[in-house]
Amino acid sequence: MRSLKAESLAVGTGDKDGDVILHDPSKPMLLRNTVCAYCGVQLTASNATKEHVVGRKFVPTGKLDKRWNLILRTCLPCNTRKSELEDDIAAISMQPDVFGKYPVTDDALVTSAKRKAEGSVSRKTKKPVKDSQAQLSVSGQLLSGLVANFSFTGSPQIDDHRIFELARYHLMAFFFLITYNKDTERGWWWPGEFLPFLHTRRSDWGNASWKGFMQAVSTWDMRMQAATAEDFFRCSIRRHPQAECWSWALEWNKQHRIAGFLGDRSTAQSIVDSLPQEHVTTVFEEQGRSLRFRQDAPLAETEDILFA
Ligand SMILES: [Zn+2]
Repeated sequence: MRSLKAESLAVGTGDKDGDVILHDPSKPMLLRNTVCAYCGVQLTASNATKEHVVGRKFVPTGKLDKRWNLILRTCLPCNTRKSELEDDIAAISMQPDVFGKYPVTDDALVTSAKRKAEGSVSRKTKKPVKDSQAQLSVSGQLLSGLVANFSFTGSPQIDDHRIFELARYHLMAFFFLITYNKDTERGWWWPGEFLPFLHTRRSDWGNASWKGFMQAVSTWDMRMQAATAEDFFRCSIRRHPQAECWSWALEWNKQHRIAGFLGDRSTAQSIVDSLPQEHVTTVFEEQGRSLRFRQDAPLAETEDILFA
């Protein structure tokens, strides 16, 4: 596949020569589908809604102006559920790290992050996002008479299942797009399973699992490459050369990366099993008690091939 500029939407045609259809990056991609793109229910005048797949409030204010978005039709319950997931996930994914550092210098990001920190309630802590820093305390006896205490304050957390549920909505919409048939006005979902694998904040994008994942799927056939909102949203879908298995990756607000597979579980499992192990340091280990930690591994830009 040709290399693409940022801010693009490219959809593989499935041809052997790897041709792609490039979409105008300044215009929305509109589908007039007749069944809900998420649950497949027949749409009617009373239950149909217009769904912005990249939620307008999911990225910093103004970032989707004059940028493409995938707009399709879904039923009201699916649309409502996805918005509910987007609310605190957007707020948390825009927050700076524990040192107050944002991934990029961007006024719109800082303004949106601060507003959402006040206005969005973390579904995990039931408190505003600004009061939802993760607290973790650990203490243990290292040697007789010597007690170690550790405490950490981390960035606000999101429950795994909510991250993966929102990722699944994004993937369903984009898979619907790459299988969309204009004559029948519908697309399809993948056969087999939804298999989320990783989700990580930016400070750890270069860990062994991520590096292994990027490498393992880098030669797969690119089926869709999407970036919009000044790259505050990115998504790619690749297909395994033989098996009925796809890999996928999402990036939200330059802060969270999520990845996994679709389709055949055994193909996905064999790839995961082949990935290198993380390097873990053991502080102490005794009967039934242990303390291990692993340092975050940032990813150098030159090593970043996830959306290449
Ligand atoms: Zn639905």
